Amino acid sequence: MQIIYDTLKDAGIRYDEGPDIGGDYGPYIQSERAAIYKEYAEKLVKLGGAYYCFCDKERIDSLKDENGVGRYDKHCLHLSKEEVAEKLAAGVPYVIRQNVPEEGSGSYEDLVYGTVTVDFKDIEDGVLLKSDGMPTYNFANVVDDHLMGITHVIRGSEYLSSTPKYNLMYDAFGWERPTYIHLPPIMKNAHEKLSKRNGDASYQDLVDKGYIKEAIINYIALLGWSPKSNQEKMSLKELEENFSLSGINKSPSIFDEPKLCWLSGEYIRAMSAEEFKAVALPFLQKSKAYGRYDEDKLLKMLQSRVDVLEDIPSKVDFLEEYGEIDPALYFNKKMKSDAEIAKAVLPKAADVFKNLDKFENAELYAALVALAQEQGMKNGQVLWCVRIALTGKENTPGGASEMAELLGRERSLERLAHAMSLLA
Ligand code: ZN
Repeated sequence: MQIIYDTLKDAGIRYDEGPDIGGDYGPYIQSERAAIYKEYAEKLVKLGGAYYCFCDKERIDSLKDENGVGRYDKHCLHLSKEEVAEKLAAGVPYVIRQNVPEEGSGSYEDLVYGTVTVDFKDIEDGVLLKSDGMPTYNFANVVDDHLMGITHVIRGSEYLSSTPKYNLMYDAFGWERPTYIHLPPIMKNAHEKLSKRNGDASYQDLVDKGYIKEAIINYIALLGWSPKSNQEKMSLKELEENFSLSGINKSPSIFDEPKLCWLSGEYIRAMSAEEFKAVALPFLQKSKAYGRYDEDKLLKMLQSRVDVLEDIPSKVDFLEEYGEIDPALYFNKKMKSDAEIAKAVLPKAADVFKNLDKFENAELYAALVALAQEQGMKNGQVLWCVRIALTGKENTPGGASEMAELLGRERSLERLAHAMSLLA
C-alpha cells in the first residue's frame, strides 16, 4: 500500500488513512489539485454524465424521512440551460451531481465474482463536486485512476455494488474501464472484519511477537486463495509462480492464528542453526535463564519446539524458577505414572546420574531407558517422573534427558534430592 500512497503523493494527492467511500475527501487533497477535479466535473456536465444542483439544505432535508434516509429526486436535472447559466452567474451555491439513468442496469465482469449487475434505480445521483469545490471520493478515485493510467483495480468486495457508478463515469468520459478484481474481506471471526482500527494485529505487530516474516507472508497469501496443489508452505518465489486470480475464493476467510503459528513453526524448523540464532537470540535475552546456560544448547532445543519466538522466555524460565512441585504432576494416565512410581524411580535415577560418564542428552536418555527396563517399568514412567522432578513443570521444551543435560550433573542431582524430599 505504501507504494500506492507514495505514487499518489508524487501526483500531488495526499491520502492519509484513506477516506471511506462517500466520506469527506476534501482534507486529503491539496488545494491546487482541486481545480483539476472541478475541470473534469464541468466536462462531465457537458457530456451529460452529471448536472448542477442548486438545492439548498432545506430542500435536501425535506426529501429525507425521519431517519434521515431519502434519495435526491433529480429536481435540478430538469433546469433549462438558461436557468443554470443564470444561477451560476448570480453566484448561487451549487454541487455537481452524477446523472444516473433512472432505468436499466450496469454490468461488468469481475475477475473473482464474475458478472456483476446492479440496477441503476439502486444508485443515487451522488455528489461528485461539493459546494466548496472539493471532489468527493467517488469522483476523485475515478479521475485519479484514469490520470495515473490504472489498468487493474483491486479492492475490497464492499465496492462490488458501487462499481457500476464508476463505470458510468468512465463511459461518459469515453475512458477505458479498468479491470476489476474485488477481494473478499479477511474476518477475525464469523461476524467481524479483521481491522487495525479495532486493535487487531498488524504485520509489524506479528513480526514483533516473533512470527517468522516469511511465514506471515505465506499465511496471508493463503487467506482467501487456494493453491492448485496441497502444498501450503511456499516461499515468496513459489508464491509468485503459483499465485493466480482463479484460485481466489469469493467467501470471506477467517484469520486463523493457530494456523499462522503452525506455519511459523515450520519455517523455524527449516532454518539453519545460525539463521535461528539470529532471529531467536533477542527473545532468549529477555529470559531469566539467559546467560546461565549453554546458549547453543538452549537454542537447539528451542528450535525444534517453538512456533512463535515470543514464547521463548516462558519455555526456558523454568530453569530459574524451581521450588514447589505439585505431587499431582507425577500423575499421567498414559504413562501410567504417579507419585508412588516417582518415589521408586527418583533415587535410582539419581544413582544413574551420579555414575554416568558423559552427562549428555544421548547418554542420559540411553541410561534412563536402561533403568526402566531393569526395573520392569515402561520408559515413560521413568522419563515422566524424572522430568517433573527436574523442572516442576508439566510442559517443558525438552524431555528428561535434555533437561538434565541443560542443568548439568550437579544441579540435576540437587533437584532430584529436593523432589525426593518433597515426596517423603
Ligand atoms: Zn438540486
